[in-house]
Amino acid sequence: MHDKTIAELSAALAAGEFSALELTQALLDRIGAQNPALNAFITVTAEQALAQAREADAKRAAGEAGPLTGIPIAHKDLFCTAGVRTTCGSKMLDNFISPYDATVVEKLAAAGTVMLGKTNMDEFAMGSSNETSFYGPVKNPWNPETVSGGSSGGSAAAVAARLVPGATGTDTGGSIRQPAALCGISGLKPTYGRVSRYGLIAYASSLDQAGPMARTAEDLALLLNAMAGFDPRDSTSVERQVPDYTETLAASIKGLKIGLPKEYFGEGLDGEVGKAIEAAIEEYRRLGAEFTEVSLPNSRLAVPVYYVIGPAEASSNLSRFDGVRFGYRCENPRDLEDMYKRSRGEGFGEEVKRRILIGTYALSAGYYDAYYLKAQQVRRLIREDFVKAFEQVDMLLGPTSPTVAFRLGERRDDPVQMYLSDVYTIAANLAGLPALSIPAGFAHGLPVGLQLIGRDFDEARLLNAAHKFQQATDWHAARPEGY
Ligand code: GLN
Repeated sequence: MHDKTIAELSAALAAGEFSALELTQALLDRIGAQNPALNAFITVTAEQALAQAREADAKRAAGEAGPLTGIPIAHKDLFCTAGVRTTCGSKMLDNFISPYDATVVEKLAAAGTVMLGKTNMDEFAMGSSNETSFYGPVKNPWNPETVSGGSSGGSAAAVAARLVPGATGTDTGGSIRQPAALCGISGLKPTYGRVSRYGLIAYASSLDQAGPMARTAEDLALLLNAMAGFDPRDSTSVERQVPDYTETLAASIKGLKIGLPKEYFGEGLDGEVGKAIEAAIEEYRRLGAEFTEVSLPNSRLAVPVYYVIGPAEASSNLSRFDGVRFGYRCENPRDLEDMYKRSRGEGFGEEVKRRILIGTYALSAGYYDAYYLKAQQVRRLIREDFVKAFEQVDMLLGPTSPTVAFRLGERRDDPVQMYLSDVYTIAANLAGLPALSIPAGFAHGLPVGLQLIGRDFDEARLLNAAHKFQQATDWHAARPEGY
C-alpha cells in the first residue's frame, strides 16, 4: 500500500480494502526500517499516529469520512505541533514543545489526516541541501551520496521513498519546489497569503509560504483544499474563497498560453536538464498548449535581492531566540550579556549566524537605504516583470533547478554556489506568486523538476496544467530503487 498516491489510498480506504490503522502501522514500520539511512524524520509520533488512525476509522464507520480521513502525512519540523517538539532543524529549539498547533496542522488534522511525524529540514529553513540541519543531512533516496535539496528536504525524501504519501513544506525562496525537483516529487508554493502562516516558525515573513508536497498534482490539490483559507490569526492571510482544486484538474489545456522566460534557459542551466525541459515542452504542445518566449529582465537581480531581504527579516525574527523565554540556554552564564551571547552563539549554526550578520548589517542605520530599501525597490521591479509577462501568457514554464541533486558536501563551503541553487525559484517568492514543481524526466540518472509559475491565486490552473502533464507521462510514478 505504500506505493499508492493519496487519491488511491483515499479510494482504497473508502472501499474498505484496509483500515487507516493498518495503513498507519505499515508506514510506521517502513519509517522504522528506512529512516535510519535516510534521516528524513527528526521525530516520529507513532503513538499519536495510531490514535489518530483509530479515530479516523471510527469516523469512517460513522459515515463521516472525507477524502483525507485516515491519510497519513508528515509535517516539516517548523510547523508548531501541540505536545510534540518542534525543532526547526536547530539546536536552539531542540527542546521546544509548542503549546499550540499551527493553523495548517489544525486544518489537516480536522480533515482527518494522521500525522506520522516531523520531517528534517535546514536550520531555520536556511539552505538548499538540508546540510545545515542540526540533525544531519537528509539523504536523497535516488542516490544516498547526493543531497535531498532544501530546506524541506526531509518532507521531499520521505515522500519520494514512500514513507508517507504527502507532507507539508514551506517555501521562502524555493524550499518546497527545489527539494521536490531533486527528489522527483511534486510540490506547490501557493500565492503569498493563500495559506496561513500562524504557528509556522518564521524565517522571512514577507516571503514564507506553506504548501503541500506529494507525488502527484492531484494529491497536491487534495492537500491544498484542506490547507488553504483565511485565518484571522495571520494578518497577511487573504480573505478569499477557496475553490475545490480537484474540480478543474482534468479540464482541457488546449489553447493554454505558456511563456518561456528566456532568462531561465541561458547560462548556468545544465544541458541535460535543459533537454528534459525541452521534451516536456513538446509534451505540452501535444496537449494543445501554445508557447511564447517572454522576458523577465530583472531576474538576475532576484538572488541578490533575496539575500538582502531574507536575512534582514531573519535577523529581526530570530532576535526572539535569546535564551530567556524559550529555546536553548547556555550553561552557567556569568551575567545577562554573557547569557545572550553564548546562548545564541552555541544555539545557532553557521549559516543562521551568517544571515543574522548580513541582515543586521543591511538594516543598520547607515546602510538601510543602500541595501534594504534598494532591495525592496528592485523587488517591485521583479514583480512588475511578471505582471507584464502575464498580460501575454497564462503561466510561465521553466526548470525548477539549474542542476539535478548535487553531491553531499559539494557546495557546503561555498555559500554563493549554494545560493545559486535557487536562481529559478526565488523570484516567485519576491513577487508573491504561486509556483509548482513536477517531475519531468531524468538527467545524469537523477530526477529533473519542471516549474510552472502562475498569476496571483491561480493555483487551480497550475494544478490543472500539472495534472494533464501527469496524465500524459509517468515521470511522477518513477520510484527510486530499493523503495
Ligand atoms: N534555499 C533558499 C535559502 O537558503 C530558500 C530557503 C527557503 O525557501 N526556505 O534561503
